[in-house]
Amino acid sequence: APVIGVLALQGDVREHVAALAGAGADARPVRRAEELDAVDGLVIPGGESTTISKLADIFELRDPIDKRIAGGMPVYGSCAGMIMLAGEVLDGRPDQRGFAGIEMTVRRNAFGRQVDSFEAPVRVAGIEGEPFHAVFIRAPWVERVGDGVEVLGTVTEGPAAGRVVAVRQGNLLATSFHPELTGDRRLHAYFVELVRAAA
Ligand code: GLN
Repeated sequence: APVIGVLALQGDVREHVAALAGAGADARPVRRAEELDAVDGLVIPGGESTTISKLADIFELRDPIDKRIAGGMPVYGSCAGMIMLAGEVLDGRPDQRGFAGIEMTVRRNAFGRQVDSFEAPVRVAGIEGEPFHAVFIRAPWVERVGDGVEVLGTVTEGPAAGRVVAVRQGNLLATSFHPELTGDRRLHAYFVELVRAAA
């Protein structure tokens, strides 16, 4: 099974480890550079991007993660993890910094102007079956994508209809919502396949 780490600085690490294990990965938390060396792919969990950014520096994981991304390691970020994979962040803290990630602009806490948390059906391109029951918690949305970025999912109903909430650029995958908080393992299975293909 592919070895997939979950960046374990802050956020819903356990939920992602369980979801990855349920999707057939050998899943483990990653807190140190040596642990990062041992994984084939990485998940950046939901949580608080400003905190994850700060701790990435303190734990000296920023450069190692940037290098692995440059080397083609697959990474999946959900919510705060999406923000950490964005080339540009609107409404971020001035000192927060993402990894060398996806060519996109995200707006932090974007839905929060309407409502803090909500749920909506979202279809993700390349994933068969029912739309995801997407859970959004002070979530970002994607305002701009570069040429190399594929839009995989948008909100289709309600006040946020049309907002981009799932994207992929090469081996980098990001969602505004939290599939790890539902029993639906299709997104994690999709990522496990991506890691398998890249290995
Ligand atoms: N608002 C958080 C941030 O800016 C993200 C929220 C989440 O991950 N559920 O990082």
